[in-house]
Amino acid sequence: MNNRHLSLTCWGGVGVVTGANFLLDDGNTKILIDCGLLQGVAEAHEENKKSFPYDPKSINFLFITHAHLDHIGKVAKLVKDGFSGTIYSTPETKSITELMLADAVNIMSFEAKRTGEEPLYGADDVARAFSLWQTISYHEKKTFADGFEVYLKDAGHILGSSIYEFTYTDPQNGSKKKVVFTGDLGNSPSTILRDAESVIDADYMIMDSVYGDRNHESKEEREKRFEQIIKETVASGGALVIPAFSLERTQDILYEINNLVEEHKIKSVPVFLDSPLAIKVTEIYKRISKYYSPAVREEIASGDNIFNFPKIKETARSQDSKAILSVPNPKIIIAGSGMSNAGRVVHHETNYLPDPKSTILLMGYQAVGTLGRQIQEGAKKVSIHGKMVTVRARVEMISGFSAHKDSDHLVEFVGGTAETVKQVFVAMGEPKASLFLVQRLRDQVGINAIYPEKGKVYELK
Ligand SMILES: [Zn+2]
Repeated sequence: MNNRHLSLTCWGGVGVVTGANFLLDDGNTKILIDCGLLQGVAEAHEENKKSFPYDPKSINFLFITHAHLDHIGKVAKLVKDGFSGTIYSTPETKSITELMLADAVNIMSFEAKRTGEEPLYGADDVARAFSLWQTISYHEKKTFADGFEVYLKDAGHILGSSIYEFTYTDPQNGSKKKVVFTGDLGNSPSTILRDAESVIDADYMIMDSVYGDRNHESKEEREKRFEQIIKETVASGGALVIPAFSLERTQDILYEINNLVEEHKIKSVPVFLDSPLAIKVTEIYKRISKYYSPAVREEIASGDNIFNFPKIKETARSQDSKAILSVPNPKIIIAGSGMSNAGRVVHHETNYLPDPKSTILLMGYQAVGTLGRQIQEGAKKVSIHGKMVTVRARVEMISGFSAHKDSDHLVEFVGGTAETVKQVFVAMGEPKASLFLVQRLRDQVGINAIYPEKGKVYELK
């Protein structure tokens, strides 16, 4: 047996929220964790097109933590560029990834026609990726390569999201070490899902830090504000337009509206779910409720269809989407994209931004350069499809529906393994958020937390 050393290299998701891509290597087996798109930064488009910094043919395994594009968006490119190993994820992540990548291919081929550029990958690359895909369930232990065993825990972030615990047995001396990849860690308490499971015996941890420097408003506050904004918009006779991410945020919003309607806290008004992708994702959420929090499962057991209430209308076809305009106010429109940089929500914003009775409600992160960010920052006029649109509508923001743990909860999470952990790599956050969390973990938990450098090889001794 030649000298094997376990090492970690962060190829994406350091100093930036998106583009997660981590390499675990013992000199014999090469394992990637996530292969995501870089998003929301100016250089994203150029960076995503570049060759991988390693030979995709040399990679043996790819483990996917969850189905957000910043974790899966380059899987088909990896396959196109020569990867032929095995891809692992939970069955739920695989199902949602199928929807997300089909949607991504549609958008990319549309863009390719417009710009004349070759798309990042096509439907055939996506199909080949799924031919390599195998599923593992939560709490399943699997020996998948010489010296490597993996165990999955629920990350509570979106349906199917997982924490990977890799146990490596050193072939030279039989010693074991546990390397944990958190993926994105769910907000606590989440709206629908259960809390992330705890980690208690990691030697090394590579973790999410999107909200490393901030705390969210509480569950009670976010629900109260949501109720208030709906009531006020309905009372003023306007439309409430909610730009929403198709995955998780849309389902959280539907669940909250369902509760408000059933508890007679708001007047029943027409609610439009105006996103073909969100409609399909919601179907998967309806089918798989076993990973919901105990309280939500109890509601379902008592007979409540948590995503369904009177006056909800799904508008998959574009003519139905266009017809929403002729439905009298008040009404609620939930449409993608979450940052208003594309999708049907842009048409609704063109219609309702000039209306002082209407409200645009932002419920997620708005990246620099997006229409959502301009609206958030109080622009009085915005350009949509080359036309200037005056903003007279009320603009509101609720951050508490985030699907990520906030700073206090991240510290608490790492605290669970403080006694065993040798080093924590604080990743998947903007530098300010990650560095703040590094300092908090050092000062308050007394552990060796670092802000990793992209491309540097860290030996896990
Ligand atoms: Zn995510």
